[in-house]
Amino acid sequence: MATRIDGKALAATIRERVKRDAAELRQRGVVPTLATVMAGGDAGAESYADAQGRTARELGIEYRLVRLGATVAAREVEAALDGLNRDASVSGILLSQPTPAGIDAFALQQRIAVGKDVEGVSATNLGMLMMGHAALAPCTAAAAMECVRASGIELAGAAVVVVGRSNIVGKPVAALLLAAHATVTQCHSRTRDLARVTREADVLIVAAGRAEMIRSEHVKRGAIVIDVGTNRGTDAAGKSKMVGDVKFDEVEPIASWITPVPGGVGPVTVAMLMANVVEAARRARV
Ligand code: NDP
Repeated sequence: MATRIDGKALAATIRERVKRDAAELRQRGVVPTLATVMAGGDAGAESYADAQGRTARELGIEYRLVRLGATVAAREVEAALDGLNRDASVSGILLSQPTPAGIDAFALQQRIAVGKDVEGVSATNLGMLMMGHAALAPCTAAAAMECVRASGIELAGAAVVVVGRSNIVGKPVAALLLAAHATVTQCHSRTRDLARVTREADVLIVAAGRAEMIRSEHVKRGAIVIDVGTNRGTDAAGKSKMVGDVKFDEVEPIASWITPVPGGVGPVTVAMLMANVVEAARRARV
C-alpha cells in the first residue's frame, strides 16, 4: 500500500520557509507584494483570489487585487499590467483566469515583466527553464516536483513519465525533471498504448485533466504517482466531488507513494506561488 504524500503538510513546511524569507526581506525594507489582475472573473476565480489574499497576508506578503469589469477592453487590462510592471513596490503579478471572451490571456501574460512573472507563464521564463537556468517556474510544475522530492527518490537516472504537455504543467515539469537528471518521457493525447509507456515509470506524473484515466494497468508496482489533475466527479451516492486523473483506490495498493486529490499537489501549488513572490522580491533587490 502506497504512502500518501500529504500536500497540506508539505505546503505548511514551504509556507513556514516563505514566512521567514518574507520577514527577512521586510527587515531589509522590502515588502514582498503580489498583485492579481482580475478582468471579469467567475466564482472560482473569486474564491481563488480570496485564498491567495489570505495566504499571502498570513505569510507577510502584501496582496493587491485589481478588479476590472467583465466588459473591459484588452487595452485597459494592458494598461493595468503596464502600471504594475512599472510600480517598484510590486514584486509579483498574476493575471486571473478565465479572462472575458475576446481577451487573449496568453498575449496579456506575455506583457507581464519577466522578473514579476510569478506564475512562470512568460515565454522568457519558460525558455530559461527549458535551457536549465534558474527561473520563476510555473507553480504547479514546481509543486509536482516538491511532491516527488517528498518521496526521497534519487531522480538522477530515474525513469519518469509525464502524461500531459501543457505549457503550465506538462512541459515545465518535464524540464525540471530533466534538470534533475531524470530520464523523461512525455505522453499526450496522441501517445499510442499509453499503459505500455506509463508502466515503465519509476515516477509517473499525470496532468491530463481526464478524471480517473490512470488505472492499475498503467502503473508499475512500487512507482511514485503524482496526480496533478483536478476534475469534477461524483461519489458513490452521486454527489459531486473533486477527483484526480488517477483512479486512487485502484492505484494506491500498487504504488509506493501517491498524492491524493484533493490534498496533494493543489495546496503545494499555492505555497509555491508565494515562494515565487518572495523569490521575485529578493531578485528585484539584488
Ligand atoms: P491541458 O488541458 O492544458 O493539458 C492536458 C494535457 O493532457 C494535454 O497535453 C493533452 O494532450 C493531454 N491529454 C489529454 N487527454 C489525454 C489522454 N487521454 N491521454 C494522454 N494525454 C492526454 O491541462 P493543464 O495542463 O492545464 O492541466 C492538467 C490538469 O491539471 C487539469 O485537471 C487541471 O485542472 C489540473 N491543474 C491542477 C492544478 C493544481 O494546482 N493542482 C493547477 C493547474 C492545473 P494534447 O496536448 O495532445 O491535447
